[in-house]
Amino acid sequence: MPEAGADAVLQARGLTKHFGAVVASRDVTLDLRAGEIHALIGPNGAGKSTLIAQITGELAPDAGRVWLEGRDVTGLGTVARARAGLGRTFQISALMMEATVLQNAVLGALGRRGTAFGGLLRPVLGDPELRGQAETALADVGLADHAGIVASELSHGQRRQLEVAVALTLQPRAFLMDEPMAGLGADGTRALTSLLDGLRARAPILLVEHDMDAVFALADRISVLVSGAVIASGTVDEVRRNPEVRRAYLGEERAP
Ligand code: ADP
Ligand code: MG
Repeated sequence: MPEAGADAVLQARGLTKHFGAVVASRDVTLDLRAGEIHALIGPNGAGKSTLIAQITGELAPDAGRVWLEGRDVTGLGTVARARAGLGRTFQISALMMEATVLQNAVLGALGRRGTAFGGLLRPVLGDPELRGQAETALADVGLADHAGIVASELSHGQRRQLEVAVALTLQPRAFLMDEPMAGLGADGTRALTSLLDGLRARAPILLVEHDMDAVFALADRISVLVSGAVIASGTVDEVRRNPEVRRAYLGEERAP
């Protein structure tokens, strides 16, 4: 077991990743605790997405380990980690745009069974268990009334909500989200902020986000990444007051 609080659902320990001469992650250690939204912020190129990719299993770290609920998942691929409870959204939209909202959610629920989707949607949609899980997830994100709509007809904000629903069908133990607010207007941002706010009680969220209003509204803790290294980690107030953070990232004009 790694050294950490018993309430840490997800633990990254000493993650290090080089791309040629670039050190994208420098000995990064952080925890995601039960019930929290832990925001990961930093300038472009700081290594946020690279860090998330090592936690999801998309990228293998050069050094370091990842633990989920006390289990070392470092050697597992993305699919096994998803089944182990790592819920991921937003980096690449996994939605099927020609399928309905309900069909997208049912396919998400199917992933939990570990059976590959063979391409016949009809028998899958008729499966009461999968359908029930999908409908529950859609209700959870506020899309129950849109179940029959084709995904391409949803607004950007509703698509993000659907992505959360798809992730929810796998009953994740922890969420990883890379810039969920990107490209959303004020309404979409508000709706997604409210959704994430409620989601933390189900599973904690490691949230990479550029929208600082959303970060300050949602985050229980913030870690700041600069040039691959965590330069500060703490509560919103602690991080806002941190002089190094102000210099490196937030800018004095954003200071309270
Ligand atoms: P962020 O998400 O914080 O903007 P990234 O994790 O995307 O930062 O990138 C961190 C650094 O690693 C950058 O210098 C980027 O150019 C580099 N990088 C990211 N992915 C690759 C890759 N696949 N190959 C080479 N360099 C990469
Ligand atoms: Mg990124």
